[in-house]
Amino acid sequence: MNIPKTDKPRVVIIGGGFGGIQLARGLAKTPVQVVLFDRNNYHTFQPLLYQVSTAGLEPDSIAFPLRKVFKKQPNMFFRWGNVERVVPEKNLIETSIGDLEYDYLVFASGSTTNFFGMKSVADNAMPMKSVSEALNLRSTVLQAFEQATLTDDAKERQELMTFVVVGGGPTGVETAGALSELKKHVLQHDFPELDLRLMRIYLLEATPRLLNGMSDVAGEKAVAFLQEMGVNVLLGAAVKDFDGATIRLQDGSAIASKTLIWAAGVVGEMPEGIDKAAIVRGNRINVDAYNRVQGHKNIFAIGDVASMPGTDERYPNGHPMVAPVAMQQGQLLARNLPKILAGQDLEPFRYFDKGSMATVGRNKAVVDIHKVRFQGWLAWVAWLGLHLLMLVGFRNKLVVMINWVWNYFSYDRGTRLIVRPYIKEERNKDVKAA
Ligand SMILES: Cc1cc2nc3c(=O)[nH]c(=O)nc-3n(C[C@H](O)[C@H](O)[C@H](O)COP(=O)(O)OP(=O)(O)OC[C@H]3O[C@@H](n4cnc5c(N)ncnc54)[C@H](O)[C@@H]3O)c2cc1C
Repeated sequence: MNIPKTDKPRVVIIGGGFGGIQLARGLAKTPVQVVLFDRNNYHTFQPLLYQVSTAGLEPDSIAFPLRKVFKKQPNMFFRWGNVERVVPEKNLIETSIGDLEYDYLVFASGSTTNFFGMKSVADNAMPMKSVSEALNLRSTVLQAFEQATLTDDAKERQELMTFVVVGGGPTGVETAGALSELKKHVLQHDFPELDLRLMRIYLLEATPRLLNGMSDVAGEKAVAFLQEMGVNVLLGAAVKDFDGATIRLQDGSAIASKTLIWAAGVVGEMPEGIDKAAIVRGNRINVDAYNRVQGHKNIFAIGDVASMPGTDERYPNGHPMVAPVAMQQGQLLARNLPKILAGQDLEPFRYFDKGSMATVGRNKAVVDIHKVRFQGWLAWVAWLGLHLLMLVGFRNKLVVMINWVWNYFSYDRGTRLIVRPYIKEERNKDVKAA
């Protein structure tokens, strides 16, 4: 794969997400060769994927080319490829573009959607973990409305115009809120021949509250905001089956809908090769306080794929799978690797939690900064500002800001394109395969 030979230690990073980027950047001045692999040639800003899937933003404003991130970093090599297997006894990785030896290996491979073993849900629901899935969801939503205009069958029309979001975390709350705004401000103008009062949006959460991990007041306010926006919030509602037309819940009830949006959780994702004994709850790799993988001196894991249980009294089961944890672990490992090379003592990880927030819609958000809690317009402005700051690349920040200002004043969503081939005979079927 044409990585130059070097007498410097080679650090191989699997994944150019929040953690991988921070680590690779942090090693710019360390005398090592850094090789970063990602199966995408871009970094995805996952917190805004829901805006892509609800036609608020175009995908290239929330994704950033990885080569551009590192264009001024001479010790860094990016390779577009999938890492398939790790062979620790040979210090080697096998990838879709060939094998490569490493001196230090870092798993920063993030997570994947957790369907909790429900095959019917995995087969028929729409996940939202990548740019392509978000685009697929956008097409599905818009296509459902196009199909609703074609049918004379009232039952089928209702199924097409019913959208069920599962998962009461920030992603589910944000998606349900965004669908409600799409209904109110866009779809009723685009589809005057449909009675938009028929459009139903459900948000289902298996536990008794929304936004677990935030304060009670944030969870309650999110319910109130969503109900105000016409979303049916069902708490204590656990899905057990979805055949593409009916969602069955564990309490025996059912909702007729063709679109189930799955935002109910994630599990760690990694290539094969790590000893099963090192894999813990949530399919995450067990690491020590220095992000070292159990049983290995030169293999590390950071971010969503890493679990660090028992090192911090605040997180006995490991840290939350959120971007700041991944970024801070990446930054710390970038400080610790030079210490390892110099034989110095390492700095343990201590998560600095700046707080949490979620937005529900225009002027509606909830923010918890430890004991300081606020909701409404100010929280919404704080949410917008923080997400703009976190986005990678000046162009992306500018484009997203312009889009938000435009959407705010025009009430419009400019990117409502169905980006799938038109296949007539598939028209009334589940279009996932297209
Ligand atoms: C819809 C959604 C909304 C979210 N909203 C928020 C939020 O508002 N705030 C927040 O803090 N967090 C949020 N998160 C969580 C946050 O995105 C993750 O915690 C964060 O991305 C973890 O960073 P990471 O570096 O561990 O992994 P990621 O950022 O997921 O990066 C992993 C990278 O590894 C690559 N990769 C994986 N396997 C391989 C392989 N075998 N070979 C090559 N490349 C590979 C992937 O392509 C990816 O680029 C959200 C997540 C989702 C899905």
